[in-house]
Amino acid sequence: MNNPFKISLAQLERQKKIQIVGELPGSFLGVEDTELTRFPGPVAYDIEVGATVGGTVVRGAISTPIVSHCGRCMKEFTHELEAEVCHFYDKSDDIELDIAEDIREDILLEVPMNPLCSEDCRGLCLKCGADLNQGSCKCDNSGGGNLAWSELDKLDLP
Ligand SMILES: [Zn+2]
Ligand SMILES: [Zn+2]
Repeated sequence: MNNPFKISLAQLERQKKIQIVGELPGSFLGVEDTELTRFPGPVAYDIEVGATVGGTVVRGAISTPIVSHCGRCMKEFTHELEAEVCHFYDKSDDIELDIAEDIREDILLEVPMNPLCSEDCRGLCLKCGADLNQGSCKCDNSGGGNLAWSELDKLDLP
């Protein structure tokens, strides 16, 4: 496959500016699924590469859908990851400039460490594990804990 992230510096020298716009599967950029996150859709990019006196300026934006597990309720949810691209490469004698690795890092840096399905996700009850977004459970979560339930906890129920 033709790699749009490999820029011919001779072509850039002639054109002064190259626009890279399109979509590619995340795997192309080495953006792989992990246990905690999946990338179900393509990576969309809109990047401008410009020649300046001292080197090459790469600016633009990338976005891709990402599936994360909510840090509070553990449910999977899909959201849009958006990353800004802003790099400068010193002038070199190379024939081409490969920006794929930097683009990949731009994406991975935006993967949230503690994703939330919504800002006000109520999470799971610490005692019975009920999803409090679906409604309250029977536990008394107001104080230091319900005695009956803490007795049950000692039984190590599944
Ligand atoms: Zn949640
Ligand atoms: Zn509960």
